Amino acid sequence: VEGVSHLYERDGGALQVLDNVSLTIAPGEFVALLGPSGCGKSTLLRLAAGLETAATGKVLEDGRPITAPNPDRILVFQDATLFPWRTVRDNIATGLEARGLLGTKGYRIDEVLKLVKLEGFADFYPHQLSGGMAQRAALARALVNDPKLLLLDEPFGKLDSLTRLRMQNELLDLWKSAGFTALLVTHDVEEALLLADRVIVLSDRPASIVAEIRVDQPHPRRRDDAGLVALRS
Ligand code: ATP
Ligand code: MG
Repeated sequence: VEGVSHLYERDGGALQVLDNVSLTIAPGEFVALLGPSGCGKSTLLRLAAGLETAATGKVLEDGRPITAPNPDRILVFQDATLFPWRTVRDNIATGLEARGLLGTKGYRIDEVLKLVKLEGFADFYPHQLSGGMAQRAALARALVNDPKLLLLDEPFGKLDSLTRLRMQNELLDLWKSAGFTALLVTHDVEEALLLADRVIVLSDRPASIVAEIRVDQPHPRRRDDAGLVALRS
C-alpha cells in the first residue's frame, strides 16, 4: 500500500477516510490493524481485496496493481455471510464452482472441513450452526481457494469470549499450517497481540498510521503455552 488516500461521496461532498497510508506486508506475515470505528479499516481491506480502487496512491501485490477481486485474496467478514439455502458443503463449494474447479479441486472441500473441525456438519444448513461454527464454515469457504492473502474483518467480534479464544487459536494453527499471509482488522488489542507479528494502529478518520508495533512471538498466551492448553482442556 503506497501513499493511499481514499474518499467516498457523501451528501454531495467528499468524505475522506484514508490519508496517505503506506504499508508493506511480507509473504507469510500476520498483521493486525487497529483503529477507531469509522476510520477506514474495512475500506483498507476492500482496497486490498480489489473490491475498490484507491482515489490516490497504489495498492500492489508483488509489484502489480490490484485492480479486481481474485480468489488469491479473500475477505472474511464479521458476520459469516453464508448462503442460508445451501448446506455447509455447498457453501464451501461456491468459489470452486464459480471457477469451474469443482471437478478437479472438489476433494479440497473435505480437507478444509477437517481443518476447521466441521467434518460432521457438511450437510447442515447455516441456521443449524452455532455462531462459531458458522464463522468456521466461512473460514473454510475462504481456505478452499488456497488464498495467498486472507483479509479478516473482525471475524470473531460477535462470538462469546471462550469461543473467540478457541477460534483465535484455531486461526493461528491454520495460519501456521496453510501458509497464507493474514491481515486482520480487530477492535480487540489482546487479540492483535496474541495473533499478529506486527500491529498497525490507525488514527481517527481520515486514518493515517500512528503507530506500528512489532510483537515478539510466541505471545505467552499462544496455544503452545501451558496455561492456554489447560484452559482448552
Ligand atoms: P468499523 O470499525 O466501525 O468497522 P471502519 O474503520 O471499518 O469502521 P469503514 O467501514 O472503512 O470504517 O468506513 C469508513 C467511513 O467511510 C465511514 O464513515 C463509512 O460510513 C464510510 N463509508 C464506508 N463505505 C462507504 C461507501 N461505500 N460509501 C460511502 N461511505 C462509505
Ligand atoms: Mg469495519
